[in-house]
Amino acid sequence: MSSERVIVVGAGLSGLATALGAALNGRNVTIFEAADKVGGAAAYSGGQVWVGANHVAAREGIDDDLELAERYVRSIASVGEPELLDEQAMLRWLTAAPAAAEYWEDVGAIRWQVIPGLVDYHSHADGALGVGRYLTNELIDGTALGEWRERLRVSPHFPVGVTYDQVVAKGRRQALLDLADDGGDPLTFGTGVVASFLARVLDEGSIELLTSHPVVTLLRDDDGTVTGAIAEGPGGTVERRGPVVLATSSFDWDPELVAEFLGIGPEDFGSIAPRSLRGDGVKLAREAGADIARIPATRVPMLPGWEADNEPGFTYGPEYALPHSMIVDKTGRRFCDDSYYVDMMARLLNPDDRHLPCFLIWDEQHHRDYGFGDTPPGGEYPPDKVTSAPTLRELGEKLGIDGEQLEATAAEFSEHADRGEDPVFGRGSVPFVRSYAGDPKHEPNPLLGAVREAPFHGMRLKIVGTGIGSSGVHIDGDGRVLDSDGETIPGLYAVGACAALLSSGSGYNSGFSLGRGITLAYLVSHELGGRPVPSNSLAGTHEL
Ligand SMILES: Cc1cc2nc3c(=O)[nH]c(=O)nc-3n(C[C@H](O)[C@H](O)[C@H](O)COP(=O)(O)OP(=O)(O)OC[C@H]3O[C@@H](n4cnc5c(N)ncnc54)[C@H](O)[C@@H]3O)c2cc1C
Repeated sequence: MSSERVIVVGAGLSGLATALGAALNGRNVTIFEAADKVGGAAAYSGGQVWVGANHVAAREGIDDDLELAERYVRSIASVGEPELLDEQAMLRWLTAAPAAAEYWEDVGAIRWQVIPGLVDYHSHADGALGVGRYLTNELIDGTALGEWRERLRVSPHFPVGVTYDQVVAKGRRQALLDLADDGGDPLTFGTGVVASFLARVLDEGSIELLTSHPVVTLLRDDDGTVTGAIAEGPGGTVERRGPVVLATSSFDWDPELVAEFLGIGPEDFGSIAPRSLRGDGVKLAREAGADIARIPATRVPMLPGWEADNEPGFTYGPEYALPHSMIVDKTGRRFCDDSYYVDMMARLLNPDDRHLPCFLIWDEQHHRDYGFGDTPPGGEYPPDKVTSAPTLRELGEKLGIDGEQLEATAAEFSEHADRGEDPVFGRGSVPFVRSYAGDPKHEPNPLLGAVREAPFHGMRLKIVGTGIGSSGVHIDGDGRVLDSDGETIPGLYAVGACAALLSSGSGYNSGFSLGRGITLAYLVSHELGGRPVPSNSLAGTHEL
């Protein structure tokens, strides 16, 4: 290969993995990272990495196979807009993913474990598996990172240090409340996954990792081939020559792209991903002639959330899915399975019947049992965030909701919730949400409890992005960026969430983003190292 470097734009999980794979395949690599910290949204994430028919499940004796995984992806992709599914990209992703997961473990980037108790989202879909497709890192100690530990993003959203076993046993909220300081620096969730890859990257002398260096320009020659990138660093501009891999994630913090792709204004939108996710990959690729693929907002994985004092300024939590709460629009009516964001986004953002703004309403039992955000159970809520009132009617008036209807909605909801049912919208019926977000101690349903006990509480919700915009740079199954004629742009690749998620059509399952990210990183880094992974082959090409 030439002496050019491989240039990776973004040091989230996909970028770190691409850089590592390229280095292990003989290339010198520069990673430009816009933020002063490494990890991107991946470090803020749950660290759930979805891989069908993976070797970790196999070694734990769990039955799965690629044909089943393909049926699953196909069946959830066809619920919305089946024409969005890119068959070639889906098959490439699914067949390469198990080899990729094994490769990253073999080269010492991660030590996988199957996440206990976590079932496929759409558990009734054809091909769904109970447990086995979600991988995460076994715990890593932060001291492995040396001086880079301070430059690792740590998730403000997950109880980093707590393991998934503890979450499954106690529920996420209780596990957080119980988080004890037992010494050491245990890193779990997405922070742990990124830390593990970062520790391995730091071992490779051929990787240059420059933080606080946002890439602002791609260099191109006369025939459109991308030949390098220019970043702006604290000491001035830095130029590197070579093929470029965009790994900049989504556009959550660019209001214009949010309006373009999601049709939501700042009054109703926020993001729980880092503020350095500004759609730069989309903008840089567009300037280089790339096609941008769109997925409808109704199918984008976003969550109900609220403003918070910590970085990035918004948060979310299982509070909205816990018993004794419900979500309504300003008419005072519910409109979805309000514990399950997939159903919520599909109905909330339906262009023919939108329900913005929307509000979370909960009662005193919820306050007493769970607290909210930083407020412990029974504690005092911050008055600028939570509105309280002695009756639902008054609460409605304060929040701008029809109070009379709100009372009627709560009465009907509560009557069914007492029996653990939600006949209209099916809250409490999705096993994935039951196993992960509810209160395991609450009977008869971990997600359903009456909203009946005064005083009542509420807030206007924000729809928060998660660093998975779904729309983005159009790539083929191997991460090569395509122009509007479907031709590849030489020298330009995209991995991770900056690339449109067409490999699963308009369907999403938790873990697709990171799972596809490490798979594309595997494919692109091998191609750039001159050892492309053969198509439709499960056999990895790596030799250690
Ligand atoms: C709370 C939360 C929970 C989540 N849980 C999961 C989960 O369990 N499983 C899952 O699959 N997904 C999950 N996601 C989504 C997932 O984290 C993201 O989709 C994923 O991290 C995207 O990975 P990436 O490698 O593409 O980008 P990221 O990890 O976001 O990294 C992108 C990097 O690019 C940098 N960058 C941006 N612009 C530039 C530029 N111009 N120059 C240089 N660098 C730049 C950014 O600063 C950032 O560091 C979650 C997200 C959140 C917020």
